[in-house]
Amino acid sequence: MEEKFIVGVDIGGTWVRVAISTKDLKEETIKKRKANTPKDNKYSISATVCNMISDLLSENNINQTQLLGIGVATAGPLNIEKGEVFNNSNLGFRIIPLKEPIVERFPEVPLYFINDCNGAVLGVHYFEAETNEKENLVYITMSTGIGGGAICNGHLLYGKEGNAAEVGHGIVEPKSKSQCNCGAYGCWEAFSSGTGVKNRALEFLKEGDINADILMKEVDSDKSRITAKEIFKAARMGDELSNKIVNDCVFYSKVGIGLVNNFFDCTTIYFGGGMMKDKEQILPPLIEQFKKDSIKFTINHPPRLKSTKFEDEIGLRGALALVKYKHENHKVLS
Ligand SMILES: [Zn+2]
Repeated sequence: MEEKFIVGVDIGGTWVRVAISTKDLKEETIKKRKANTPKDNKYSISATVCNMISDLLSENNINQTQLLGIGVATAGPLNIEKGEVFNNSNLGFRIIPLKEPIVERFPEVPLYFINDCNGAVLGVHYFEAETNEKENLVYITMSTGIGGGAICNGHLLYGKEGNAAEVGHGIVEPKSKSQCNCGAYGCWEAFSSGTGVKNRALEFLKEGDINADILMKEVDSDKSRITAKEIFKAARMGDELSNKIVNDCVFYSKVGIGLVNNFFDCTTIYFGGGMMKDKEQILPPLIEQFKKDSIKFTINHPPRLKSTKFEDEIGLRGALALVKYKHENHKVLS
């Protein structure tokens, strides 16, 4: 019998990643590549995805008839039936069709879609979570934005179109002047995502009430060079403004985690996304809060808090796991 393979795709605001693996997802068989997310027109992402898959197939002498499926995890919101992304603020177009162009190129291959954070929680579920964590598991990305995926009682929560657990847009400070990418004010994402941290620093700099000498020295007085990375670094060096922003990022993450745990009553939350590059400034105070005094933020027993060891590859791994679980009719997807 011909050997079977799985293709996984992860589409984000910056990178498109594609992987191919044998159907048992053995570590040594996973082959990956990535390219910058193209934003020329609404079909350029699907064209790039198709070309990357074709290249991986031909380089490894695999025919598309050998594919068990293609799993596509993408930044949302996403309609998983239509296979199109809508209202995404980072991908450049109001609607991005993915299903039709991919089906046209790979007509015989089953194609599955999933919102990237829902995909990532499947990735954690398959590749990383301990047995006693799998039934009630949450993944949260702290990246350009904040997003989540939740498995409750062993089942992935989809929602009506596949966008359940958009935890980053939970409003944690309704009277806030900090506006979120989504247009609302005071979302968790507006305080604790990379974009939120940067925007708040710029707002405070404009007001000029808090000392930011160390931060400004760090970027040679060029405000356009400020990103979350510089702010976290300046905070470590004692910058007053940066420390306020980092403290707020952590505080509102306590609120966010508390709400997530009230809603999903999870055993463990895994964190991923670019902000985890500075996880030493984020996770330890969160872990301490929920270990020593969780009741301030959640009524349920607190979850364990961890970061994913697969870092920015967890979404891609989730796309692979999606196909495997679909093929096995795994309970997590029912
Ligand atoms: Zn929002």
